[in-house]
This record gives sequence, C-alpha cells and structure tokens, in this order.
Amino acid sequence: MRLKIRSRKFEGRCARHKRYNPAVDGQGGIKAGCVRCNLIFEIWQASLKLNQLIRKFDPSHDDLQRPAKPKPPATDPRQMSLIPE
Ligand SMILES: [Zn+2]
Repeated sequence: MRLKIRSRKFEGRCARHKRYNPAVDGQGGIKAGCVRCNLIFEIWQASLKLNQLIRKFDPSHDDLQRPAKPKPPATDPRQMSLIPE
C-alpha cells in the first residue's frame, strides 16, 4: 500500500487570539468557542495522531530521528602524538 502524505509546514494562528497555542493551552484555552482556535487545535491534534500512527507502523520513519552520527576518526590524534617521529 502506498499513500502520499503531504509533508508540509503548517503555520496558522487565530487573528483574534494570536497567542493561542494548542500544545500549551489545550482545548480549554480556546476563548468563547472560537472556530479558528478550534481548527488550530484540531489540526494540531490530527498531526500528533498521524505522526503517532506512522511511528507505530514503522519506527524507521520517525521524523524525529536524527541522522547517523559521523564515525570517529580511526586513529586518535592524542595517541598519534605519543609515537616518536
Ligand atoms: Zn480564536
């Protein structure tokens, strides 16, 4: 099964509640049932859920996984300096 998931950066904020942050304020932080804030909350929740599902299915697709560390040099320069030239 192949599914194309649009990997896009979402930047949205409510014009009336510019400081609303779903990760910090949660659903309880939405003022007077604001539709825009609710949408931001839902998008945030859906993105978390989607990431969780993808990780659960295949951990190697973890987008938080850092690239492999560069290999250390084969010889330690400090050891090299001990060898008389
Ligand atoms: Zn709002």
